[in-house]
Amino acid sequence: MLMSLVERDLAVIWHPYTQMKTAQPPIPIVRGYGASLYAEDGREYIDAVSSWWVNIHGHAHPYIAQKVAEQIQKLEHVIFAGFTHEGAVQLAERLLQLLPSNQKKAFYTDDGSTAVEAAIKMCLQYWLNKGQQRTKILAFNNAYHGDTFGAMSVSGRSAFTAAFDSLLFDVEFIDLPDADNIEALKSQISELKSQISCFIFEPLVQGSAGMIMYEAEYLSQLMAHCQSEGILLIADEVFTGFGRTGKNFACDYVQVLPDIMCFSKGLTGGTMALGLTTCTQAIYDAFLSEDRMKTLFHGHSYTANPVACAAALASLDLFVGPSTQQNIDRIGAKHAAFAERIRDHRSIRSTRQIGTILAMEWETGNDTSYFSGLRDKLYHYFLDKGIILRPLGNVIYILPPYCISDTQLDYIYQSIGQALDEI
Ligand SMILES: *Cc1c(COP(=O)(O)O)cnc(C)c1O
Repeated sequence: MLMSLVERDLAVIWHPYTQMKTAQPPIPIVRGYGASLYAEDGREYIDAVSSWWVNIHGHAHPYIAQKVAEQIQKLEHVIFAGFTHEGAVQLAERLLQLLPSNQKKAFYTDDGSTAVEAAIKMCLQYWLNKGQQRTKILAFNNAYHGDTFGAMSVSGRSAFTAAFDSLLFDVEFIDLPDADNIEALKSQISELKSQISCFIFEPLVQGSAGMIMYEAEYLSQLMAHCQSEGILLIADEVFTGFGRTGKNFACDYVQVLPDIMCFSKGLTGGTMALGLTTCTQAIYDAFLSEDRMKTLFHGHSYTANPVACAAALASLDLFVGPSTQQNIDRIGAKHAAFAERIRDHRSIRSTRQIGTILAMEWETGNDTSYFSGLRDKLYHYFLDKGIILRPLGNVIYILPPYCISDTQLDYIYQSIGQALDEI
């Protein structure tokens, strides 16, 4: 008996972030082109969430595909301790040029979570190597930095971490800064300053928390204050990097330079997994020693995989080309106009936007939990219209690949308008 792909999937696969008992069967996708994905039954889906926020130039981009194919026939992988290769070096050279001017060294990892793990270890061991006891970490309430244990520890406590909360290390959580609380936050930090090794934050947008946005002005103030207290700054740009917020990096909006930056998601244009942690010369230098114990003992089997580096280099070629910034600006302008149109709708509580990210908070009365029925209703409503949107609780957000067409964007807006009237 011939089994369908979905039946075979259900027999052997356990999906991420999915309650397998109640979930609808997965949709089998057979190919992608531009901002669209095509299912086994021929249906087209517009990928309005860039496949979990990773895709920036569109699916199955022929230029990236060609570069990946060339690389994999030449060198597929090599151990990165004691060896190096052209792609890893060139990618570091070119990226460091684009980053804030104090970023001097690149450390490769596998994905966003491991980029964060490496960043945390760098900071904790930085102080140890310098002979100082700074073991606490500062983070924002509702933060999300990944699903491995260190990354989970510095993320806000939530339903997603509940099963592990007692095992996560202690973190000092603070609110997002604004005009009203900025001075209180500074005092709070100053009281703990000699214990805090680093401050990790998602610059300007807390993605997983529901696309919560906050102002560059107050982030700058907070960063400057931490810096004056000797606290290292980790900017987690895993989500915000590579044009998402309208500029190359969210840190390009702030006045203060971070000590460490984390990247993944858009790094390879959404083609394959790769993580990167960059740091200042001062952090790097703190690990230079005759004493082997001062080494950063961290690495992954596939560190700096040449094929992933080739994908990232190809993505970077496209990223710095003229049409990418034009597309980012075009999407930003269209988002802003749509937000303006729906702002006063009775079903909209609020809208927020930066660059290519538009988030709309649905009016729900009092029920705002992630598990509310509204989320599932909206998710399936848009799937039926051939649009992939994954609401976070009552927040719907659009963050498309930058190549999405005006027609596709207008269709998404029109469908959201319909949902506002019908749901
Ligand atoms: C997605 C995300 C991560 C984790 O990245 P993975 O590649 O999923 O491990 C870390 N930080 C932020 C800000 C993210 O959005």
